[in-house]
Amino acid sequence: MSFKQSVDFMINKALSVLDVSKGLAEAIKGCNAILEVRFPVEIDGKVEVFTGWRATHSTHRLPAKGGIRYATSVNLDEVEALAALMTYKCALVDVPFGGSKGGLNIDPSKYSREHMEKITRRFTRELATKGFLSPATNVPAPDLGTGQREMAWMVDTYKHLFPEDINYIASVTGKPTNLGGVMGRLEATGRGLAFGLREFFRHSTDVRAAGLDGELEGKRFVVQGLGNVGFNASSIMSDEDGIKVTAIIEKDGAIVNDLGLDVKAVHEYMLESGGVEGFPDAKYHRDGSKVLEKECDILMPAAFESVINKENAVRINAKIIAEAANGPVTFEADGILRERGIVCIPDAFLNAGGVIVSYFEWVRNLSHMRFGRMEKRLDELRGVQTVRAFEELTGKKIPTQIRQELTHGADELDLVNSGLDDSMRLAFQQIRSVKELNPKVSDYRTAAFVISIEKIVSSYLDSGVY
Ligand code: GLU
Repeated sequence: MSFKQSVDFMINKALSVLDVSKGLAEAIKGCNAILEVRFPVEIDGKVEVFTGWRATHSTHRLPAKGGIRYATSVNLDEVEALAALMTYKCALVDVPFGGSKGGLNIDPSKYSREHMEKITRRFTRELATKGFLSPATNVPAPDLGTGQREMAWMVDTYKHLFPEDINYIASVTGKPTNLGGVMGRLEATGRGLAFGLREFFRHSTDVRAAGLDGELEGKRFVVQGLGNVGFNASSIMSDEDGIKVTAIIEKDGAIVNDLGLDVKAVHEYMLESGGVEGFPDAKYHRDGSKVLEKECDILMPAAFESVINKENAVRINAKIIAEAANGPVTFEADGILRERGIVCIPDAFLNAGGVIVSYFEWVRNLSHMRFGRMEKRLDELRGVQTVRAFEELTGKKIPTQIRQELTHGADELDLVNSGLDDSMRLAFQQIRSVKELNPKVSDYRTAAFVISIEKIVSSYLDSGVY
């Protein structure tokens, strides 16, 4: 079963509990437009040809939104499946975008910075001149193998192609903060995961149904992939929630320490040595796939799709699978895990933090002003006035720590994180209420897709199909 088929089967499962006509269901599931490009770039005097794609899955809202992936495994099926997941994800968390995804078949580690810039700028020209990149219709963002650096080149290329577009800066999100990026976007997907899991652990019945109890504190995590998402999610939850990361699986193998790994130290070690092998105070296993099956409370796949599939699903030894990657559990594995009582917290919800904060960045760019610029000092003043009023009325001094908290005016990062937290809480509350109220819905993934499909259907019905 291909990745796209797997996503479609999951959507069919959600459609089966809804009353949606066959035609409308087909309209929702199908990919709206696909661009495939092949372009030559001169690398050290030799011409190399690159193949890339951008799929626009849904345009029921515009712009269509989603990342651009650089990897040798990228292909059309993957890009289409990921574009579809973007549609459902945006609808679920009330981000008013359609879904899109792009990919370039390339191994970025084989090219210098200069070469990557040349290739990225050329790919951007292909996308922009063929109608697959603009602040109004299609807005890329980082994904596997891309980051702020690539987004900076993309937005700069777009700006030079369309200098008359006053909103050029909103043509790409996930940019560096000195180039129109919003504070908090870099770690947004990881922070969103933390907010999402905290919300899950606020509902003790859900926690007990997953075979766990208490709070996030002390929960044993196995993390697959210490890239942007895996690293930020696990280091934020280690620092702020007291989780224990007992294993980290990377490209060159896995490291295990049941007493807990220092995620930041592992990350630094990886940046220096290129892998996890040799990290002190941990046992190294060359075969990382075996460590995926290690006993833990929460397994967090944060790398590629389909890593939990019908081959290994029977051996997964976690209570919860926290889907940080897109599509890490196949449709077949999903069924096996459900039968075994292992709870999946689905990607469409749990990793939506990235696109939620991309939405904030896009809005910030269209308003041409950073968040908090108008109200921060006023906010601060209100705090000072409240403190003063309290002290005058009671004759007592407010302790310094509380005074500082009360007189802090919200800056851009505070506002972004507040909006992200709220979006994640609301989405989970909606998911669990659909699961509770609809007897035909037995899992969080189906509940999430039911919500997404209902929203997309009502947007089609309200505006008409034409
Ligand atoms: N690539 C990320 C995702 O899969 C972010 C997409 C975006 O911000 O547009 O959700």
